[in-house]
Amino acid sequence: MEEILIVEDERDLREILSFNLERAGYKPVEANSAEQGMAKIKPGIKLILLDVMLPGMNGYQMAERLRSQACKIPIIFLTARSAEEDVLNGFRSGADDYISKPFSSAELLARVKAVLKRSYSEEESLYYCGPLKIDAKSAKAFLAEDEILFSRKEFDILLFLIKHKGTYFTRGELIKELWAEAPYVTERTIDVHIAHIRAKLGLYKDMLLSRCGFGYSLTDRCL
Ligand code: CA
Repeated sequence: MEEILIVEDERDLREILSFNLERAGYKPVEANSAEQGMAKIKPGIKLILLDVMLPGMNGYQMAERLRSQACKIPIIFLTARSAEEDVLNGFRSGADDYISKPFSSAELLARVKAVLKRSYSEEESLYYCGPLKIDAKSAKAFLAEDEILFSRKEFDILLFLIKHKGTYFTRGELIKELWAEAPYVTERTIDVHIAHIRAKLGLYKDMLLSRCGFGYSLTDRCL
């Protein structure tokens, strides 16, 4: 469960936030001041909902302090102010988003989801299988840190197989998944692409398994 730190001095609002986040499947961690919030920062925290107007250290100061400590946890500021200058201040001090009070729980959850997705999609775009690393975002593949050039279709096949590591897919299933726009592709085409991928995997070609009647699968269990 993704932990979200709520730094808010208004108790009612903090409890409503906590309740809504918990209901949406997150694990809320509450703090009533920036000082308390700083003390509750730990590796599991994925996002901070940070009130701007706080007694003692304010939200901007807390954000600046975190960023100066190279803490990259995304921050959404919660504030009653909506003046443009404040919004700019927020982004300058390291905000990922900004939400003005009063807000609905639907709006809050949509922003939380969007910021989490944006902040952590980098990790989601990397896939590993033994020495093979695939970066879906940049469409690059590396074998033991050396970049391997795959054609577009070879890359698509490899990406699909690595996303479903250990599962077999028949040629027909691969065509359905990867050639939706070209239903005339034959099973032989798949075999040719697979042969090219194997050749490029070189020493590690056995990671790409073929099993009669089941199809193809990528695995690191054979290594
Ligand atoms: Ca406040």
